[in-house]
Amino acid sequence: MRIIEVGPRDGLQNEKRVVATQDKISYIELLVEAGLSRIEAVSFARPDRVPQMADAEAVMAGVPRRDSVSYIGLVMNERGLNRAIASGVNEANIVVVASETFSQRNQGMSVKVALDGLDAMTQRASDAGLAVSVTIGAAFGCPFEGEVPTKQVADIVRVVSDLNVDEIALADTIGVGTPADVKRLVSTTMEITSKPVRLHLHNTRNTGYANAFAALELGVSALDSSSGGIGGCPFSPNATGNIATEDLHYLLERSGSTTGLDFDRLIEASNFITGRLDIPTPALLGRAGWFPAADYPDSLSRT
Ligand code: MG
Repeated sequence: MRIIEVGPRDGLQNEKRVVATQDKISYIELLVEAGLSRIEAVSFARPDRVPQMADAEAVMAGVPRRDSVSYIGLVMNERGLNRAIASGVNEANIVVVASETFSQRNQGMSVKVALDGLDAMTQRASDAGLAVSVTIGAAFGCPFEGEVPTKQVADIVRVVSDLNVDEIALADTIGVGTPADVKRLVSTTMEITSKPVRLHLHNTRNTGYANAFAALELGVSALDSSSGGIGGCPFSPNATGNIATEDLHYLLERSGSTTGLDFDRLIEASNFITGRLDIPTPALLGRAGWFPAADYPDSLSRT
């Protein structure tokens, strides 16, 4: 299973404290050292609406460049895509939203208008040499409309599947999904498309890791997580953030799925950013430690 690190984007975007540009770059350096090879580093949102991401271009100018590391920029519209291409990200993650009200409020356009514009956007990103993902936001539930019918998500998957897109992501933006929802949405998606499916999970209601395991069993190719589990939910002020990279790494490795990550370095990255944010770390593995510990007789080597 490929873990996609979204701490620098979704994590920091939903934390109150704005982290200095140089600290964001140092954080990303630590994530690269930990073995993360796809990192959602920035969002090209309006700086007045998302001040935490206002320095996206400066962050991208400072990140370590390696052939093995791909940096993803989140994009909501044409303007964001222009910025993404100019900034030198390797991938554009273009967001469309599954529910009408959320689409209007988040993107300032209807679902139909957003979908109509996708063809040109994905083509332009691809022509600029970027890998392209489309994330379907609020696929598991909407903060304004509640339940999102499966058909609504399926209709969007059908449109996206015909475009020049490398991967389709289903996002549990507000963290309401359960493993039953993961099964329903992932199997529906896989019946429609042969493109790789990625899931974006939050642990808002403590179902994030159960959802991740369901995704593993269904053959999902990539999971988003934030180191330390930093972040939150813009619609639940006291909620926790994404599933945590180190906890997900443990779950996957102990379930027989290789992530290629270095546990000790993940903890280092996580401690660094929670220190800069001055918050307790939501993730648990940094407190509990790996199992089995390295000094047990006959132990598996730490990975
Ligand atoms: Mg999110």
